[in-house]
Amino acid sequence: MGFIVAIDGPAGSGKGTIAKLLGERLNLTNIDTGAMYRCIALQMLRNNIGLNEEEKIKDILDNADIVLKSEESEYKVYLNGEDVSLAIRSEEVSNFVSPMSKLQIIRDKLIDLQRKTAENADIVMEGRDIGTNVFPNADVKIYLDATPEERARRRVKQNMEKGLESDYNTVLEDIKARDYRDSTREIAPLKQAEDAIYLDSTNLTIEEVVEKAIEIINNSK
Ligand code: C5P
Repeated sequence: MGFIVAIDGPAGSGKGTIAKLLGERLNLTNIDTGAMYRCIALQMLRNNIGLNEEEKIKDILDNADIVLKSEESEYKVYLNGEDVSLAIRSEEVSNFVSPMSKLQIIRDKLIDLQRKTAENADIVMEGRDIGTNVFPNADVKIYLDATPEERARRRVKQNMEKGLESDYNTVLEDIKARDYRDSTREIAPLKQAEDAIYLDSTNLTIEEVVEKAIEIINNSK
């Protein structure tokens, strides 16, 4: 097991952006675990599979080949060879993924994959339960947060840059609903690990957050 930086936090807190920059600057493999849950959600939606169809879900899990790759400056997600980087960010997937990710059989499979991905590498892994559940012994744990309003503003801007249209109030409501579901579910809920360092990014620039994160990482070496 290499050096592990775990970043957890709610939707839109900047985990993806910060993990990507930390990966580039500190030469760490960046693993977006949300993208893995999103791949399974996409596959279930495409095949019209409901949350209680366990056999069919098992089949999807057994046959999903998920590959995450940093290509030049882009983060790419491949599902069975198809580039689904954009498809997994749709509103439909965003709304389905959160109720879906409370299923134990899905979590077990993806956590296994997450641990395997980290076997021979120094990594920065971001998600909801990395510091609490996937890597409770991670070398560094950061809990990244921001107000729901700021997170909704960021999501709308991010969507615009990707050419996806979205309405601020809808995004804000979706974010609040997702936070609620992610933090109140029984299995591996979103919460700050006791030994994680809390970082509020609401009034910080991306560069300031990265600098603070690097400081936290350097202090724990
Ligand atoms: O990070 P992102 O917003 O892409 O994650 C999508 C969803 O996947 C989250 O809302 C959450 O329900 C689920 N997730 C999870 N555990 C993780 C990462 C994501 O339950 N480690």
